[in-house]
Amino acid sequence: MDEKNTEKELESRYYQPVFSRDMKIVRGKGAKVWDAQGNEYIDCVAGIAVASTGHCHPAVVAAICRQAGELIHCSNLYHVPHQLELAKKLSEITGLGKVFLTNSGTEASEAAIKLARVRTGRKQFVAFTHGFHGRSTGALAVTHKPAIREPFEPLEPRCSFVEYGDLDGLRKAVSGDTAGVFVEPIQGEAGVIITQEGLHAGVRENCDMSGALMILDEVQTGMGRTGKWLAAQHEGVKPDIVTLAKGIASGFPMGALVAREGLEFKAGEHGSTFAGGPVACAAALATIQVIGEILPTVIPKGERFRAGLSDYSPRVRGLMIGITLGQRCPEVQKRCAARGVLVNCAADGNIRLVPPLVIREDEIDAAIEVIHEALG
Ligand SMILES: *Cc1c(COP(=O)(O)O)cnc(C)c1O
Repeated sequence: MDEKNTEKELESRYYQPVFSRDMKIVRGKGAKVWDAQGNEYIDCVAGIAVASTGHCHPAVVAAICRQAGELIHCSNLYHVPHQLELAKKLSEITGLGKVFLTNSGTEASEAAIKLARVRTGRKQFVAFTHGFHGRSTGALAVTHKPAIREPFEPLEPRCSFVEYGDLDGLRKAVSGDTAGVFVEPIQGEAGVIITQEGLHAGVRENCDMSGALMILDEVQTGMGRTGKWLAAQHEGVKPDIVTLAKGIASGFPMGALVAREGLEFKAGEHGSTFAGGPVACAAALATIQVIGEILPTVIPKGERFRAGLSDYSPRVRGLMIGITLGQRCPEVQKRCAARGVLVNCAADGNIRLVPPLVIREDEIDAAIEVIHEALG
């Protein structure tokens, strides 16, 4: 029996049927991956904006292996190797204050919800339509998409949703009861949706007027994806809380909350067994070092995609690219894969390209050619 059928059988027998998948990827190097049949692909998915430094970057692999041979886990009962050095780095690159490390994006959202509730003494949140902040119940409560949220209602915290980019609507929705406003600088899961300039400043202003905290979800847009450490840094707006995850440790599970100076949990208000463990921190430090070196190349690479795909009106912010295709999205995804390029259908018929930041110009050109063929 061939490998594909074995996987299918095992999945249907032993795995909760939440994912819809076909291909098995077994190896990666830089911006390339290989499937179980040995086919090579240029990877414009990167584990959904996760493999920021490319697959198996030697510096990241070395950091993980070195730390794994010394200490894999010791608990936050003790100072953890690399943890505070990483916190210092994250504080510096975000321009904010203190860090809490997590294992995922959704846990960073949970930490933000708790911090906003406990420090403001308020219980309600406001978020935007088509926004995505995670799958655990708190994060899900502030995630808009009815299909994934409504089956689990009632959820806490209470959240009202405002049309993405509608600052008048936001002004009406926030009140003295609003603990925080969740916002993505660019909506990733929604399909790389970019709203008007001034969104961040507008959210900031509404938060300042109401006393709500501005919670900026940079889980997908952060860590150099758009050519700066944070997408919001293009507009120069500082949130009260920023959340990070996906690209932060090149695929080793990690997330982070960074809060502005003075916004802090008290002892015992939050915690985690695994979060901020030595291996994850080593992976993140190596990742940040590599991203720091390639950050200036991200915008030019994005512009190369923009120029090559200009026929299809791409939305481009660094190496975060969306193209609206409508119903033929899954078909185009398949055709690209058959020609050796992985792309991903995000919501509402939008193709999303979020390749490793290390992708080379010749790989970009090859991917563009394949996407043209697939669309033609
Ligand atoms: C992926 C994502 C999350 C959730 O991260 P997980 O690690 O899957 O929990 C939250 N917010 C945004 C913007 C994301 O893209």
